[in-house]
Amino acid sequence: MLARQAQQFRPRYVVLTDPKAARQASAADLPAGTELLTGPDAVTRIAADPEADVVLSAIVGAAGLAGTWAAVQAGKTVALANKETLVVAGQLVMELAAQRGVAILPVDSEHNAIAQAMRGNQPDQVERVVLTASGGPFRGRSRHELESVTVAEALQHPTWRMGPKITIDSATMMNKALEVIEARWLFGLRPEQIEIVVHPESVVHSLVEFVDGSVIAQLSPPDMRLPIQSALTWPERLPGPTRRMNWSALRALHFDQPDRDTFEALELGYEVARRGGTTGAVLNAANESAVAAFLAGELTFLEIARVCRRILDHHDYSARPSLDELLAIDRWARQEVSRWLRTTRTSPSR
Ligand code: MG
Repeated sequence: MLARQAQQFRPRYVVLTDPKAARQASAADLPAGTELLTGPDAVTRIAADPEADVVLSAIVGAAGLAGTWAAVQAGKTVALANKETLVVAGQLVMELAAQRGVAILPVDSEHNAIAQAMRGNQPDQVERVVLTASGGPFRGRSRHELESVTVAEALQHPTWRMGPKITIDSATMMNKALEVIEARWLFGLRPEQIEIVVHPESVVHSLVEFVDGSVIAQLSPPDMRLPIQSALTWPERLPGPTRRMNWSALRALHFDQPDRDTFEALELGYEVARRGGTTGAVLNAANESAVAAFLAGELTFLEIARVCRRILDHHDYSARPSLDELLAIDRWARQEVSRWLRTTRTSPSR
């Protein structure tokens, strides 16, 4: 697929970080003028390439941090689709961006909506932001009903078509928890200024409430091409391929409170937004490992948040960690998930 994409778009570089895939790949599959880069430093090399103006950071998980960091350090405008970067190292990344005078433009649809709604207003005029959540495939289900859900059920998202990791995060509502942390760093908000409202139609992508009581929302059909375009062309608005709202077919938009008892991940997000320090790196790494274990059939659905809670509660907290310390605690949290699986899975669980 990568070779096909390269044939179609003829990029200057193609990067493969997976050593096995890199060994199998052949430069002969690539068009003339496209160079194949491999190895651990290849991503950071192209992220800092002198000819790049904007770096779209879209690698899934904490693996996206290195490239994003390199881009910010090199003074690039960053279009950020990788929320985990801010969950893991939001404080350090935003400090570096301020120091380098770099704009970080959110591609995450909710945060892109907030950025659009905030345009032309001062940060101190914002009273709170409301992140909308589709509620995922299990909206309205009880804890009891969620005990036995399968991987296939969790991968059925009602409104968005996305990769497996973020789709599972949407089903557990960990995605919204991570987005609370992302919003906290991106917009410099206090956690109590961030609210979550369930909105199953995924048409209102988020709202900003100002000190005078005005609320500005951004609406569009659920289509990731719009926030991607918005970030790439910021601050311009250009014609684009996004579907238009069909007002004659639209009858109602629904809003509801999230079920915080059933979806325990939500509280984890607020706790991390309050405590900062090492908590984001720990929650993110534990969740990435737990989601992988769930997809592999080694963990039940409700155990994902439970494992994250346990590891978060038992980690060695530091309020002002360095980037290296964050990467070390990321590795520790992943090992803890493996250890938890080994010690609690003496016999097959399913
Ligand atoms: Mg989102």
